[in-house]
Amino acid sequence: MLTMRILVAALISFGVLIGVVSPAQAALPSWPNVKEGQNGANVLTAQHLLRHRGYNISADGDFGPATEAAVKQFQSANGLSADGQIGPNTWPKLVVSVKQGNNSNAVRAAQVQLNRYGYGLDEDGDFGGGTHSAAVAFQKSKSLSADGIVGPNTWQTLVGGSGSGGGGGGTYSLPLAKSALPRSEYDDPHHDYPAIDLPVNSKPAYAMVTGTAYRINEPNGCGNGLRIVKSGVDYIYCHFSSWSVSNGTSVKAGDRVGTTGNTGNSTGPHLHIAIKISGTSYCPQNFLLALYDGRTPPAPSSLPRTGCFY
Ligand SMILES: [Zn+2]
Repeated sequence: MLTMRILVAALISFGVLIGVVSPAQAALPSWPNVKEGQNGANVLTAQHLLRHRGYNISADGDFGPATEAAVKQFQSANGLSADGQIGPNTWPKLVVSVKQGNNSNAVRAAQVQLNRYGYGLDEDGDFGGGTHSAAVAFQKSKSLSADGIVGPNTWQTLVGGSGSGGGGGGTYSLPLAKSALPRSEYDDPHHDYPAIDLPVNSKPAYAMVTGTAYRINEPNGCGNGLRIVKSGVDYIYCHFSSWSVSNGTSVKAGDRVGTTGNTGNSTGPHLHIAIKISGTSYCPQNFLLALYDGRTPPAPSSLPRTGCFY
């Protein structure tokens, strides 16, 4: 009898151990702590989820007082400590499982997250075939059960992960999802001076490097643009329809920074990209081609200053 009990106890312990070391569980990243003063994709995600739950706040990616007030209300209504910060206790109650056929602000939140990993989805709240394929591809890439349903584990892996933008993650990212344009678009010459025009409309734009982002507002030039500064180099984006980051934000390579559009002096929807050092323009083509190919790009100061415009 005693031997039997020991055996049963041993089996239970063994089962518990297996549970603890199951790879899917071990792979889940921690939930981030998102709070007032922050901005970016995780803030935008939380705002879409709060809107889904009936809180009438704007989804602008900026965690201001209205978002904080909504978080506190949500926390009080869900038996959580109402500190106004979205951390490891609040996220699991805030996320909503979504799947193909759904159409909601929770779907928008999932699309914002999938776009952090370079899937280039329209953030329209409509969970169609494209969003389903992106969810399955993301799940496979993270060794999650690839059912296309964005449930608790997939949400945590999305929100807790560092994202990869268009370029596969790390120190650099393509400014667009890799699927947005073929490689041949990244070597085209520009008109008049060193830069490049990428023919896209209404696509997520990503930080090419980790740095500090400053908004450009030039109705007769760059339109709604962005300058990301890293080590004295300006990485410039023009003609956004909207920004995803506020002025002076720290961004990581691959973070969503805006949506491409046709603002400013522009003859059609496109993303204008330029690289400048102390006001001098360098040809961005070789830099972008390296990002497309997954190679480490050349130092901006080594890029040519002629040969990329007509
Ligand atoms: Zn241009």
